Amino acid sequence: MLYSYLKSFSQIAVHGIKEHKIRINKNTRIKVFQQNIAHEIQKIALCGDDICISIHGHIDIKKECYVLIEGYLLNVNYSPLFKTDEFNLLYAYDGPLGYIYNKEYTEFYVWSPIAEKINLLLYKNFDPTIEEEPEVFEMQSLQKGVYYIKIDGDLDGFFYNYEAYVYGKRNVVVDPYAYAVGVNGLRGAIVDLKSTNPDGFEEDSYIKLNANVDAIIYEVSIRDFTIDSTSGVNLKGKFLGLTEENTNYEGVQTALYHIKDFGITHLQIMPMYDFSYKSVDEKYPLDKYNWGYDPQNYNCPEGSYSINPFSQKSRIVELKKLIKKLHSIGIGVNMDVVYNHMYEAQHTHFEGLVPGYYFRKNLDGSFINGSGCGNDTASENYMMRRFIVDSVKYWTKEYHIDGYRFDLMGLHDIETMNRVRDEVLKINPYAMIYGEGWNIPTGIEEDIRAIQKNSGKLLGIGFFNDTIRNSVRGSVFEYKEKGFVSGALNLEDTIKECVKGLPNLYVSPCQNINYISCHDNHTLWDKLNISNSKDLFEDLKSMHKLAYGIVLTSQGVPFIHSGDEFLRTKKGVENSYNAKDEINKVDWSLKVKNIDVYNYLKGLINFRKNHPAFRIKDRELIERHIEFLQSPKNTVMFIIKDNANFDSFKDIIVIYNANNNTVKLSLPEGEWHLYVDKNSVYETPKRKFTSSIDVEPISLTILSNTI
Ligand code: CA
Repeated sequence: MLYSYLKSFSQIAVHGIKEHKIRINKNTRIKVFQQNIAHEIQKIALCGDDICISIHGHIDIKKECYVLIEGYLLNVNYSPLFKTDEFNLLYAYDGPLGYIYNKEYTEFYVWSPIAEKINLLLYKNFDPTIEEEPEVFEMQSLQKGVYYIKIDGDLDGFFYNYEAYVYGKRNVVVDPYAYAVGVNGLRGAIVDLKSTNPDGFEEDSYIKLNANVDAIIYEVSIRDFTIDSTSGVNLKGKFLGLTEENTNYEGVQTALYHIKDFGITHLQIMPMYDFSYKSVDEKYPLDKYNWGYDPQNYNCPEGSYSINPFSQKSRIVELKKLIKKLHSIGIGVNMDVVYNHMYEAQHTHFEGLVPGYYFRKNLDGSFINGSGCGNDTASENYMMRRFIVDSVKYWTKEYHIDGYRFDLMGLHDIETMNRVRDEVLKINPYAMIYGEGWNIPTGIEEDIRAIQKNSGKLLGIGFFNDTIRNSVRGSVFEYKEKGFVSGALNLEDTIKECVKGLPNLYVSPCQNINYISCHDNHTLWDKLNISNSKDLFEDLKSMHKLAYGIVLTSQGVPFIHSGDEFLRTKKGVENSYNAKDEINKVDWSLKVKNIDVYNYLKGLINFRKNHPAFRIKDRELIERHIEFLQSPKNTVMFIIKDNANFDSFKDIIVIYNANNNTVKLSLPEGEWHLYVDKNSVYETPKRKFTSSIDVEPISLTILSNTI
């Protein structure tokens, strides 16, 4: 393939000449031109397999550039230039962006070193389908590629877009920094953010967290959690639905009070920024289903979760009310953020303003697609990194968000993630930053990707642990593969590593997010039903309880997918991102049916919270206090000894028995009191054992020599 790209302001490379049998000599016909004006060529040289053309003077990046070589016309890809120091020297910008609202005037700033001209379009209507001639204001070009305008008057209530003239095209785009939008996110909205604060929001604050290991994360979707009639919620599938108190179904608590009763500390909310209107039309939110991992406007809440998506302020007010409500019952809010890709890159505000800058491109100009969604953003580029950091800072300050779960964090670079951590912690010292550190090929080298094996360079940032997931339940990709709890053999050593929070992978247990089920892939219950289809319901239930028992007794940060605590099913659907409510809904009748599982996990959460021995934040202390004891095949037995992490219990013995039969285990010297067995968690110990114990088939057991 023959293509051309920019190496610097004065050097253009052409790739693929050998393939096309193009010979380079003094007779080769080469021209470099922009808008019919040819650049004077200084030198042509071979650089590796490519040829490098040096020109006198500079490429003007506001115009497209073409290379004509032996009859082939090539559009020059500028993306590589955007990563260079010489580009950053001219255009890296740290001043204000977005709009700054005042009652008397509003100032607008937008960055585009590429645009020849940018106009501010001011509208009265929230929706492009309403015909209206906008007021047009030409913006002033400042240094560093910034366009600016100040408009007098109180603009609260107006809408705006930018009209950017880029390479001869007119692109009308929403401001990437817009803090509010009209319905379906097609116009930015100017709002006085102060007027969006619910009563008392100024006094609302973050949830205090001593260490990440003290958190218990619970993942919910705003829509799934309350959409079913069994939720008993009035405003089903809305932000406000989750603020309703005392909702119940046949005597069991649902929604908000369920969360409170369960005992988790942090709610991880699946995408709640404004996602693509093509996935869910905010005017008809129930017509289509989508989780929303397809961002459209990063700094605004999603409209389909609002009771009034037509109001630019309502969604903001409603989300703030939800956060305030959750904080008032002691629960933190972690936001699921997807800065790694966008919905249809070529139609985004980013591409409309600065084509080729915000997304990673191959040298041939095509989008890099590690995310599997068609494009990866270029976090390593100065202004994209800045955008991500600014965005999380904004959510932290404006909405009091307690933490961030980064979708495909491994596509981001280490420096970006460290900046995110530093800047967010400056605002909220208790904040949690974690994400999916999967190693996926993308446009940056492996050693700078924010992936699990680079955790040593990402201190204070957490990673989802796929080792515990796959070893406890079996691979998420091989549906029939069993795990430790469901009958796979020889996993004892892996489980032991998991108990200690993967000491060979993570510098700190605070970086280790222990999970076995989340929105992706089968729910744990569906997985067990597929991998162990011939087993009895009661045995599957025991496996389910043991699996979460391992998560809640291992060192690290436990993570629970909502509804798993009462055997949530998605009816066997593995990838339900756009399945119907019927598949994705949390069905609260299952809580009634499986209340025993709920009570057991609730008891384990409470036990974990009462026992700091399960929440050691220091690697060395884990090594010092945890010792594995001899035990038969398919069992793991360990002792957390000597009042670990100031635990009130002297020694705690934990036993996982994955065998389908009762197993006799020898106990260390002393009297051992039973706190947890297969079916119950006891506040005061049930029985005591000396020298040995018979543990039930497929069970968790916890004992201590302290009463
Ligand atoms: Ca939307």
